[in-house]
Amino acid sequence: MTDTIFARIIRREIPATIVYEDEDVLGFKDIAPQAPVHVLFIPKHDAIPTLDDVRPEQAALVGKLVLAAAEHARREGFAEDGYRVVMNCREHAGQTVFHIHLHLLAGAPLGRFGTPS
Ligand code: 5GP
Repeated sequence: MTDTIFARIIRREIPATIVYEDEDVLGFKDIAPQAPVHVLFIPKHDAIPTLDDVRPEQAALVGKLVLAAAEHARREGFAEDGYRVVMNCREHAGQTVFHIHLHLLAGAPLGRFGTPS
């Protein structure tokens, strides 16, 4: 697996606040939260750098990231109020870690998004 910071979190080489784990997906708190709840969901076994690198046979894995986020939201009690999931792909989206990840943002009304900077 490519050695990103997230690969090191999966191997427990560096600490993270892990809030979700199943066979395929790890969820942990973002180190620089952009909302009261900010959790990252990543695949544990597949080193996929960007969303653009996902192959058709890996589509279910992306679905598992989404379902993990939704399950976490229900379990933590903020699904009814709502939340946002985001995947950044490459430079214009500001991707900084090249191991695909789903951001789950919640805990307060969120501003709009997508404005060019
Ligand atoms: P991206 O910008 O690539 O979509 O998101 C990467 C996210 O990873 C950022 O929100 C950043 O704060 C988070 N991050 C970077 N390094 C670490 C780390 O070592 N631990 C944790 N928990 N989050 C990190």
